[in-house]
Amino acid sequence: SANLDPGIGKEIAAAVGVKLTHSDKVMYPGTKVTKATLAAYYAVVAGKMLPHIQDRPLSLVRDTDGDLQQTFFQKHRLPGMPKAIHDGQLEKMSGKESRILWVDDLAGLIAGVQMNVLEFHIWGSLRQQPDLPHRMIFDIDPDEGLGFTAVKQAALDIRGILEALGLQSWPLLSGGKGVHVVVPLVPEADWDEVKSFCQDFAELLARTDPSRFLANMSKAKRKGRIFLDYLRNGQGSTAICPWSTRARAGAACAVPVSWKELPSCESANGFDVFAAAARAQLPEAWEGYFDVEQTLTDRIRHAVR
Ligand code: ATP
Ligand code: MN
Ligand code: MN
Repeated sequence: SANLDPGIGKEIAAAVGVKLTHSDKVMYPGTKVTKATLAAYYAVVAGKMLPHIQDRPLSLVRDTDGDLQQTFFQKHRLPGMPKAIHDGQLEKMSGKESRILWVDDLAGLIAGVQMNVLEFHIWGSLRQQPDLPHRMIFDIDPDEGLGFTAVKQAALDIRGILEALGLQSWPLLSGGKGVHVVVPLVPEADWDEVKSFCQDFAELLARTDPSRFLANMSKAKRKGRIFLDYLRNGQGSTAICPWSTRARAGAACAVPVSWKELPSCESANGFDVFAAAARAQLPEAWEGYFDVEQTLTDRIRHAVR
């Protein structure tokens, strides 16, 4: 795993123009992961993370106490926020809520570290084109106690169905309990079409394989099954950004893996910042993700109804 030298983290923060205060503050209790460590982490993963986060409206999870006990979501500018976290209006937005935050460089990521951000969550559309999603996500949420083997099998099954429909997908270890199956799209279908497709897809799975899946978020009904959470796919909904740290014990990160290596992954939170940084220096696991050109056609949408 990588050596995330806090001294280097401080130097990089200064070099990109972010004033890192209390840089030795431990952000994950029981570890040596400080704000400076996180600055070093984001410097290592920025090359792979920035294409996922640039120009996406953000929801930031902050932990000002550094104890992981009380975290909160922030979507709007506060006084004193570093300038590298931009705020502005969404362009060509049909809805109401239109002022959003975004980052576009390493300074923005490290500015997040400075303000105790532990999670960067992103919309599925660009701020310049907020009405047309460029990706959809199947968020696999297992019942407590269901093992990771079942999660992986679910991800592979979802991939197989998507493939049969003509859609390529890529798996993300969430850094928590589950896997997100991510499907990049040429932004043509609107949010309603994408969300309906994901709901139809989840309900189809729940109908055909009810012992394993349900399409209802009720935890009481989950009982040893997987909730296929299609709710990530509405306008304004967010999902964890690939390479983001998580606000959970152990400093785990959301990490892209390939379909080939997924079966050998032992958990969704197996990569802490040191392991994730080491991995970010290897060849891209999501080869082709930014190049694939696929759309949610009427044929595909009708096939899952
Ligand atoms: P896990 O694998 O443990 O389920 P996850 O990131 O998928 O991790 P979920 O609870 O399934 O976590 O939530 C999915 C997404 O929903 C999150 O990544 C986040 O973007 C969004 N989300 C969850 N809770 C909130 C909240 N209170 N406010 C805003 N967005 C939220
Ligand atoms: Mn989830
Ligand atoms: Mn979920």
